[in-house]
Amino acid sequence: MCDLEVPDTYYSIEDYESSCARWCPGCGDHGILTAVQKLCREEQLPPEKTVFVSGIGCSSRFPHYMKTYGFHGLHGRAFPVASGVKFRRPDLDVFVVTGDGDCCSIGAGHWVHAIRYNINMVVLLFDNSIYGLTKKQTSPTSALGTKSNTHPRGSVLPPINPIQTTLGISNVSFVAQTTDWHPAHMYATIKKAHEHKGLSFVRIIQRCPIWMKGMNDTALNDPNAVTLLNHENGIELDPKVVKSFNNVIEHDPSDIHKAREYAELPNSVPVGLLYQNKNAYRYDEYGAHNLGMTNEERIAGINRNLDKYAV
Ligand code: SF4
Repeated sequence: MCDLEVPDTYYSIEDYESSCARWCPGCGDHGILTAVQKLCREEQLPPEKTVFVSGIGCSSRFPHYMKTYGFHGLHGRAFPVASGVKFRRPDLDVFVVTGDGDCCSIGAGHWVHAIRYNINMVVLLFDNSIYGLTKKQTSPTSALGTKSNTHPRGSVLPPINPIQTTLGISNVSFVAQTTDWHPAHMYATIKKAHEHKGLSFVRIIQRCPIWMKGMNDTALNDPNAVTLLNHENGIELDPKVVKSFNNVIEHDPSDIHKAREYAELPNSVPVGLLYQNKNAYRYDEYGAHNLGMTNEERIAGINRNLDKYAV
């Protein structure tokens, strides 16, 4: 007799698919969507307990394409919305989907504080180094000299490096980098981020073939232009995937000084887990327990304070 345990509900990919994605053909966002839907299926995340929160931009259309709960927010405001959701509903799986303009420009203040608060959620930064939705303006991560509608002769400021910036924020707990054209690595990175208890920040270098045609050609075609940061505590990869990288550096993700060094590799894009601290403070742990009080104690505390103003 076979003793096979069959779950009451099994979610298939179709249970996470919503409307047909309307990103341009060849856009890296399609591959990221596929990886996230696969993660939901592999982890059997109940759609009614999963939330995708976004800001504004091409990437921020993401919640429309997931058959889960979602919130397509305002410019740069995905972080506070997602933090609020997770803070009051710790039982939900919360993902933030943001772009380089959304996160690193108008949402930069929220980005800094979300990292410091270290609330348990996954942040996916889709970084195509341009404002795509509004048709090619310089973004904070555009390389120096990028020609755009705002800088037709080339951008004049050096870009922000989002992983270096995140590594510099106090109480940071998880920073990883991957690319949309390494699907196995991207999937394993998002999986590791989802397993982490705290805020996982994943920068995904993403192709925009419409406005940044050819931007990633070197990284795509020159095997030396990408470096894998590998470690037994890093992203779990099939040995065949590790072998597909020409440049591999052993990097212990508990070493923040090395992480900062590798975040700025000359002439090569680092991919892998740069930093993880499983013991960083988590603000949601503090809040999820009703600030350490019962509801009755909280109401009594509020009444005590209001009584001070009684006339
Ligand atoms: Fe993707 Fe670029 Fe098209 Fe936006 S404009 S959907 S980023 S290819």
